[in-house]
Amino acid sequence: CGVFGVIGVSDAASFVALGLHALQHRGQEAGGIVSYHPEHGFNSARRFGYVRDNFTRTDVMATLPGSLAIGHVRYSTAGSKGATAIRDVQPFFGEFSIGGCAIAHNGNLTNAAQLRRELIDRGAIFQSSSDSECIIHLMARSMQRTLSERIKDALRHVEGAFSVIAMTRTKLIGVRDPLGVRPLVLGRIGEGYALSSETCALDIIGAEFIREIEPGEMVVIEKGEIHSSRPFAPAKPRFCIFEHVYFSRPDSILGGRSVYETRRQIGVELAREAPVEADLVCPVPDSGTPAAIGYAAESGIPFGMGIVRNQYMGRTFIEPTEQIRNMGVRLKLNVNRALVRGKRIVLVDDSVVRGTTSRKIKDMILDAGAAEVHFRIASPPTAWPCFYGVDTPERSKLLAASMSEEEMREWIGVDSLKFVSLDGLYRAVGETQGRNRECPQYCDACFSGEYPIAPSDQIAKGFQI
Ligand code: 5GP
Ligand code: SF4
Ligand code: MG
Repeated sequence: CGVFGVIGVSDAASFVALGLHALQHRGQEAGGIVSYHPEHGFNSARRFGYVRDNFTRTDVMATLPGSLAIGHVRYSTAGSKGATAIRDVQPFFGEFSIGGCAIAHNGNLTNAAQLRRELIDRGAIFQSSSDSECIIHLMARSMQRTLSERIKDALRHVEGAFSVIAMTRTKLIGVRDPLGVRPLVLGRIGEGYALSSETCALDIIGAEFIREIEPGEMVVIEKGEIHSSRPFAPAKPRFCIFEHVYFSRPDSILGGRSVYETRRQIGVELAREAPVEADLVCPVPDSGTPAAIGYAAESGIPFGMGIVRNQYMGRTFIEPTEQIRNMGVRLKLNVNRALVRGKRIVLVDDSVVRGTTSRKIKDMILDAGAAEVHFRIASPPTAWPCFYGVDTPERSKLLAASMSEEEMREWIGVDSLKFVSLDGLYRAVGETQGRNRECPQYCDACFSGEYPIAPSDQIAKGFQI
């Protein structure tokens, strides 16, 4: 998911709409905005579909006045499987004796099922099936006298990954979980401030990037001032390495590094680790493009767009049903026959999850007359599900969970298949010594199976680490 909020600008909701549009790659199912205006109070609009189709309409935007607003773009992740209902669309809003508060959450809480049961037993009436709603009910039960203290209180009870943006009548609040699994950044716009999942959404509104919210940090922005605090016990950060590989936009800056440059560098590592004799390096666009550029540069093999992407399609993986995803490949990608015919192709993609994409692309490229296909993947094999806010399927559907690399190669049907190593990936994100085995610098659970936060709801359901 993606979150964005702004304070201290007139017509804040329009800025939020722009920010969410720039974060659309983080969630395409639905979006929502809440704004506050001293005369009109809190207002909200929550809609299915793209930001550009909903939050450009004057009839919608006219209902969201004020100089303070937050928003969310959604895609359903582990825990909330299936089609999204409009009641699951954030931001969520709670009216307490001490005032109203809206929250937007990116990430996934790993103890939400447990919390929900306890809260329901104590009388909470849940409106949605979302894990994030727990935060509102925990706030309702807190005895603290300010809303920001109640948010702290609530977040001390949750486990998992959370980058949360919240707003009261006067404050814009941002919090990251102690490990800082999901991103959250701070920007300045005129006299006001913005909080965003990624820097690319600051760019679109012309905001200046100030810094990241740190893991375990809470910022409260009010009347042009920023107050920072540390509500949680200190922990060693474990940012999601997959944000670098796929999830974030290539024009964003994560941890001081250009995402594009990291992806290009993964391609360089891949070319060193898994060279092959070939005539052309082709990305699976767009997710494989920067890594393919790096592979081509390092190997000296020419780069070409052997596959062309229809720009009017979204991200396939983020489509929640298998049926749409299966159709997705052909709707989205087509082979540039004139370029690939007769050639030995190095095909570069960011990841293999179920393997269905890879298999179809291989068919398409062989149909077009390629002589050989060598598949190179800019991440290690995805063998474990993510419980922290990226929608990987259950373990049994992950190709790498049950097959060796050679079995995957055969199943996909390519001449060779190589994944970048975990150490290669760590080098590409700037860890020159590779992965620290005792204390890894990132979360890489989907590749290593080492979960930095125990997925307790899953364990209770029988998931074995
Ligand atoms: P597959 O067909 O192997 O299940 O899908 C892999 C493709 O899905 C890759 O091309 C990758 O770009 C894309 N993808 C989109 N979202 C995700 C995600 O959240 N996780 C992973 N691993 N791949 C994703
Ligand atoms: Fe990111 Fe993978 Fe960790 Fe999920 S399991 S937070 S996708 S690195
Ligand atoms: Mg892709």
